[in-house]
Amino acid sequence: MAGKYGDFYAAQKWGFPKAVAAEHAPSPRQFMPDHIHDPSFYERNWHKEEIGDGFYWVTTPSGYEAAFMPTGSGVVVIDAPPPLGENLFAAIESVTDEPVTHVIYSHWHSDHIGAASMFGPKVKIIAHDVTRELLARFPDPYRPLPTDTFTTDETLEVGGRRLELSYKGADHCPGNIYIYAPEEKVLTKIDIVSPGSVTFMHCDASENISGFYQAHDDILSYDFKALVGGHITRWGTREDVETAREYWHDMLAASDEALKEMSTRDVLEGFHQGTGREHRLVGAENFINSMVNYITDKVLSKTTSNGQAWPERLAGATTFTKYHAFTVMESSRLERTHHGYQRRGTGGAWYVV
Ligand SMILES: [Zn+2]
Repeated sequence: MAGKYGDFYAAQKWGFPKAVAAEHAPSPRQFMPDHIHDPSFYERNWHKEEIGDGFYWVTTPSGYEAAFMPTGSGVVVIDAPPPLGENLFAAIESVTDEPVTHVIYSHWHSDHIGAASMFGPKVKIIAHDVTRELLARFPDPYRPLPTDTFTTDETLEVGGRRLELSYKGADHCPGNIYIYAPEEKVLTKIDIVSPGSVTFMHCDASENISGFYQAHDDILSYDFKALVGGHITRWGTREDVETAREYWHDMLAASDEALKEMSTRDVLEGFHQGTGREHRLVGAENFINSMVNYITDKVLSKTTSNGQAWPERLAGATTFTKYHAFTVMESSRLERTHHGYQRRGTGGAWYVV
């Protein structure tokens, strides 16, 4: 059934071109868990799995995830995405009649905790200091302020069950924490790895890309059997994280190469000569997009560590790699070394812009 805009809203010649399914690789089988094909998933609007002993993961058709753990003294919930909303109560009630007593905010983003007001005023809400600061600065009635915050590490014990919370610095956003169930060996770290896919555009709209890279290593430093990544209808394994890490490092290597090769005065001058000084920003777009195309081509044409290409290993590779290439390259220009700077006269670094 076609929606209001059909299957694409075209903005004439200045907008983005339409992506056509026939031109893209289908999602690899490992990205297609059984519930994706189950019509009742779309009727009920949620799907739940026990991914650790007494630790439950819940997902929605739109690919938003939360988790919960009954403790005998109340249920501890991690996140409250609006697309899941009160269906989270249905998922909890299918397991226990204990009330929700504790809610942990993974980070301050509305798409992951924007239904938290549904728990009412009596629950304890645990989050990082920065999450509280951001929610106090930008108030939202649907995201009540945390009642308990921490700075570096915190252990939450409820009914004899334990969760270890940790903050290792800004990555996807400031205040995005690790939530580890050590007995159950389940790690929750939201918006870094979307198991089975290349994740959403622009490194899942992450703010600190150096931190985004570091988070892959930090996730792997935990002893976990299951990862709650926050997206997208799949929970993850260690192998999923290792695969994602490899993809991102291929991207970074290609980005370094593109910057070294093309981010020089000579090359930049070439783009400007092509458009003229009065069209400087047309030249700038062609310059930046040429580096992005270079990176995209290198990543997608590479034979990876298991002999497959990225579109065979990760869903979304052919659609989203170009957005990631832009973000990784641009963040390198902002966050990583330029290997020097312009010297007086004509001497200088190998990449100058
Ligand atoms: Zn987020």
